[in-house]
Amino acid sequence: MSHRTLLIAFSLLVLATPAWAQRKRCGTPERAPITASTMAAPSDCGYWTNSPQPEYDPNFFYDIPVVFHVIQNTSGDGYLSADIINDQIDVLNEDFQAIAGSPGAPGTNGKIRFHLATSDPQGNPTTGITYTTNNTWYMDSGNYWDPLAWDTNRYLNIYTNVIPCCYGYVADFPQTGIVGTTADRVVLWWEAVGKNPTSGWPGNMGRTGTHEVGHYLGLYHTFDSGCGSSSNCYGTGDLICDTNGEQSATLGCPSSKSSCGNSDPFHNYMDYTDDACLWEFTPEQVNRMRCILEHWRPDLAQQFPAQENVRLGSPANPVALLPGQTNAPLAGEIWDPKVDHSSFVPAAVVDVLLISYSPVNLPQGAAGTLLCQRPFVATIFNYSPGTPFQVPIPNNFSVINAPFYAQAASKQGGGSWQLTNGLDCVVGNQ
Ligand SMILES: [Zn+2]
Repeated sequence: MSHRTLLIAFSLLVLATPAWAQRKRCGTPERAPITASTMAAPSDCGYWTNSPQPEYDPNFFYDIPVVFHVIQNTSGDGYLSADIINDQIDVLNEDFQAIAGSPGAPGTNGKIRFHLATSDPQGNPTTGITYTTNNTWYMDSGNYWDPLAWDTNRYLNIYTNVIPCCYGYVADFPQTGIVGTTADRVVLWWEAVGKNPTSGWPGNMGRTGTHEVGHYLGLYHTFDSGCGSSSNCYGTGDLICDTNGEQSATLGCPSSKSSCGNSDPFHNYMDYTDDACLWEFTPEQVNRMRCILEHWRPDLAQQFPAQENVRLGSPANPVALLPGQTNAPLAGEIWDPKVDHSSFVPAAVVDVLLISYSPVNLPQGAAGTLLCQRPFVATIFNYSPGTPFQVPIPNNFSVINAPFYAQAASKQGGGSWQLTNGLDCVVGNQ
């Protein structure tokens, strides 16, 4: 075969290779040798060690504001609609909360929630999405984060462009001193964003986002450092004991695979398996991510009381106002929810209620449960047991033609929040 024939054959091979096959799954850097900054306390979720503690178990919700920086080229490649970005937010919520009925349901509910930022660093209202056109930045070249980053202490900054190397990456891990610098970021190949089940490629379910946000919250690959040491699983390998050791990344979606004397954890989001094959973080991974939020990203997330199963009373299901329903609440309208907390919180101790409104299509779990996803507005007011009360819908709160749910938690002054067993989210006098 002549050189020319070889060149043509090679060119055809490259042309025939889909874009996804030319990329690595993940371009997150390897951990660097220990430096002073990476040795910093606290060590419960350190760079090289892990020590799960009960205080990091998912006993309440973290809510993380996200800004998406969409970088396009001058041909318009790389454009992502708000719908696609909302789909990606949904995937993060499904996977980090193991939401019932979603592809992430088999995993662990880490009670970590994500929502597009509603106010920018200056406090102005925002969609949580920025659009920039720049041919260099689109190729993931140059420094786009200095001009584009929003305060990385307070926002998860996700950039989308074409990333020639891979599906996605994080610039570095949170213990390295990167938090608070403009460089702190998650980068996703724009074609890997959102739910795109028809495209038929391995990264088509938005799990690149799940994987990279896992890194952003301090998780390593399940195959990091190979098998590690089973007697020191918090100090070797991926620093997690309830993920089995794994010699190397798993590709595709095998029916079984083992490499370190146990089944490989190839359904774990931190492996390289196809999106459709991924469906879990383990409890210890969740514990580590929440430890990271407490110690290494302390200004990022708001905390909300645990309210996983908001609707426990009767009637069995929350009342939802669906698109087109004539009694959908109008912005500014007064509505009278009934609070039925008798079976969960003794009425006599309730003196404060927190109400969260979620004008999004919340997934419902099994009958009698409502898995809450994105509280957009929270109102705290005094409540006297047994007294009817009214909750004004804020004037700037648009719920017209949107599914609408509410949830509630209660506490006695100064006490800790407790779950109530739900609100009857019905508009009008009850
Ligand atoms: Zn990775």
